[in-house]
Amino acid sequence: MTFATLGLIEPLLRALETLGYQTPTPVQAQAIPAVLAGRDLMAAAQTGTGKTAGFAVPLLQLLMMEGPKVAANSARALILCPTRELAEQVHASVAEYAQNLPLTTYAVYGGVSINPQMMKLRKGVDILVATPGRLIDLFRQNALKLNQLQTLVLDEADRMLDLGFSEELANIYRMLPKKRQTLLFSATFSDEIRTLAGQMLNDPLSIEVSPRNVAANTVKQWVVPVDKKRKPELFVHLMRKGRWKQVLVFAKTRNGVDALVDKLQGLGINADGIHGDKPQATRQRALDRFKSSEVQILVATDVAARGLDIEDLPLVVNFDLPIVAEDYIHRIGRTGRAGNTGEAISLVCADEVNMLSAIEMLTRQTLTRKMEPDFEPEHRVPDTDASGQVVKKPKKPKKPKASGGGGKRNLGKWVDSGDVAPAEPSIKPVRKVPVFNTGPRKKK
Ligand code: AMP
Repeated sequence: MTFATLGLIEPLLRALETLGYQTPTPVQAQAIPAVLAGRDLMAAAQTGTGKTAGFAVPLLQLLMMEGPKVAANSARALILCPTRELAEQVHASVAEYAQNLPLTTYAVYGGVSINPQMMKLRKGVDILVATPGRLIDLFRQNALKLNQLQTLVLDEADRMLDLGFSEELANIYRMLPKKRQTLLFSATFSDEIRTLAGQMLNDPLSIEVSPRNVAANTVKQWVVPVDKKRKPELFVHLMRKGRWKQVLVFAKTRNGVDALVDKLQGLGINADGIHGDKPQATRQRALDRFKSSEVQILVATDVAARGLDIEDLPLVVNFDLPIVAEDYIHRIGRTGRAGNTGEAISLVCADEVNMLSAIEMLTRQTLTRKMEPDFEPEHRVPDTDASGQVVKKPKKPKKPKASGGGGKRNLGKWVDSGDVAPAEPSIKPVRKVPVFNTGPRKKK
């Protein structure tokens, strides 16, 4: 199959050729004809599958073929993204696909001044990429009207709900014209996403390109058990031992990111960090420098790193496990892309056993544990497996009764007496359940 057989017009074919895209990826092969036919879409696809071109390329073609010229302060297509980085990245891809077309594109997001964005919108733009909060601000200040909107794309819809954007999405829903095409992309499909899809989509075509909730099998994954306080030391040790050159590291909190970056920089290691508290320009600069290998170690929170496309990343390290198990799949999806192999190493302490268990259950695998000599934890990480069971510390054996006994006894799985039992053994995945259309936005 070629892009030409999917019915794309010549300027788009030329752009794809310039970018070196020879064959459509599976999501593109399914999405492009469906979008061109005007269908609504509900697509299960992660970043790395080529989903951006899957929606953007046919969208550009429809904008060329159908609809009036864009009016002042209007947009003909809107792509909603959960984070600023993703909005920038999607916009950069859209602009590349549109390079031979007389269409205008623009990205708006928070964390930067709104005035230049208002100025830019005066003439209208064909495709607007936006994060939900800033879009609503622009709409409320009359800088943007949506009555000309032909197509709405919800990119990484699951992440938007995880980040607490359900109220914003409900508000945006009310701002949209009834007659429109809607395309929803999500890596995972929870009940909340299905509810959202039920409200926003009209007779959608369902597309699924990778098995649901299963981590990429091109990524070699393992866990190094360690005590919490020794994680920074272990990280530096593994880095030196493995001669790591380019590593994306995930930490749970903003403070965690800053502390690790400070520690690494203090040791003369070329590291930088990105998280939601940093100004947008600083985040983008750190990311650009990491991509161009000027920075060796990039430490990030999930919010800042979701959906980033970094070519040929060999290694992802989970300095902390994610609270939402599905984020593990997204994190390790930063490596092993486009058929390359990659490695994902998680430094896990006893406190994180419930998260580990949830990840193993979600990805239907028991992660291999590799003890690092001299870093064996004092607080052993209890055993886990893909069933979601955590093996608790056994109770003190009762004194044998004087009478009876002698028969076969089942001792269950044996664990050291030094084990720390989890506060609350979990058999369900650890994840937040966002509610669409109710409640205040949770700030991260
Ligand atoms: P995405 O999943 O949209 O973030 O795309 C992941 C990466 O794959 C990006 O670097 C794209 O430029 C690249 N890509 C998308 N489609 C193709 C294709 N058909 N052939 C080669 N590379 C592609």
